[in-house]
Amino acid sequence: MSLAEEKIKKFESVSSEQDAIFFQAMEEVIYSIAPLLESCDIYKKNSILDRLVVPDRIFKFKVTWLNDQNEIMVNTGYRVQFNNALGPYKGGLRFHPSVNEGILKFLGFEQILKNALTGLPIGGAKGGSDFDPKGKSDFEVMKFCSSFMTELHKYIGPRIDVPAGDIGVGAREIGYLFGEYKKITSSFEGVLTGKPFMFGGSLMRPEATGYGVIYFTQTMLEMENKESLEGKICTVSGAGNVAIHAIEKLLHIGAIPVSCSDSRGTIYDTRGIDLALLKEIKLEKRGSLEEYVKTFPEAKYIPVNDYPQGAHAVWDIPCYAAFPCATQNELNELDAQNLIVNGCVSVSEGANMPSTPTAISNFLSHKVCFAPAKAANAGGVAVSEFEMAQNASMSHWTFEEVDTKLKNVMQQICKRVALTAKDYGVEGNYVDGANIAGFKKVADAMIAEGI
Ligand code: GLU
Repeated sequence: MSLAEEKIKKFESVSSEQDAIFFQAMEEVIYSIAPLLESCDIYKKNSILDRLVVPDRIFKFKVTWLNDQNEIMVNTGYRVQFNNALGPYKGGLRFHPSVNEGILKFLGFEQILKNALTGLPIGGAKGGSDFDPKGKSDFEVMKFCSSFMTELHKYIGPRIDVPAGDIGVGAREIGYLFGEYKKITSSFEGVLTGKPFMFGGSLMRPEATGYGVIYFTQTMLEMENKESLEGKICTVSGAGNVAIHAIEKLLHIGAIPVSCSDSRGTIYDTRGIDLALLKEIKLEKRGSLEEYVKTFPEAKYIPVNDYPQGAHAVWDIPCYAAFPCATQNELNELDAQNLIVNGCVSVSEGANMPSTPTAISNFLSHKVCFAPAKAANAGGVAVSEFEMAQNASMSHWTFEEVDTKLKNVMQQICKRVALTAKDYGVEGNYVDGANIAGFKKVADAMIAEGI
């Protein structure tokens, strides 16, 4: 049995049912770094893998709040502080009914390697709650956020742990969380990123993840000698912050993003998604994509239930490049086969781990350029780190400054990942390249810091 197989067996035996998704993320990394583990005795000697897969600590707490009917509601809050070898714990908060410890461990684990790839001094963490902001009034969201922070504030700090947004947590939620932190501690400090610009947020933080995915893809296509995105049909899933800004950047560079989706259905607009309308529906009204076809009846709305079970409508649309920007495991083997049959050349992950392991092996074996989330969507957390730097120096950078730095970080990540893949004999495999490069950075720091 190889060392990788031995470790996988060991970790699987102690995994709980909720940990299945964490195990999926971990297994991919272990297979990728197997050649490194075999060739470098130092990682084995320092038990790095056994240490890396266990979070430093997990906080789990009760969140009670009053809804608009004055009923007492109870949710669970979490913060998983996974690894701070490279810098303060850093990673988003997710508010979604699916949130549990296993999902946050998977996201926190991915965050360690993603943050390492940025080359910036940030460790890995994740947190959130099973609270669902959908359909809640602003007051309810505010009351929930205040209550959540009365517990969370004990564990965070600008040099300790700096949360940000993720699914269900945007500028509104970050604002309420920041306000409560300030009230409790009387301290105005950069303890959260993704803040609105008027009280310490960075310009371009909302755009960063989506723009970053496109910058990464442009570099990857260039390095792989493929045609650029200009004038090409692109498909995007999701309709949240990442999807909207990926679509925006695709439009800026002259590509044609023809789709977006939410939990209820997919929009297919062959003329290209109307960004102003999408923003109005999703950012202003927090509504359903069904509304899109009321303004543009020539576009197609495909309700989730109208598409045959097993695959997803958005990945059945012929495209040059695909951008899964919705959520984990949203693109499965059948979807991958549909994309490949339809001639898709490149897939870049905007969401965290949206492709299943079998989808990824299909892409790799068919030589589709595949950009894994921990490399391709690192632009969000990179600009979060820029926000920390601006807060620490009490300054503001211009939009252009942030954009230039973001582009540079994404190009560097892409080049480092491609080079690492080549060095380890798996040229063109950005999954292995990202896992090895991220792991090495964290592992070397852990060794230097001792146990
Ligand atoms: N939630 C984002 C991610 O998955 C951003 C985290 C951050 O800005 O700290 O990377």
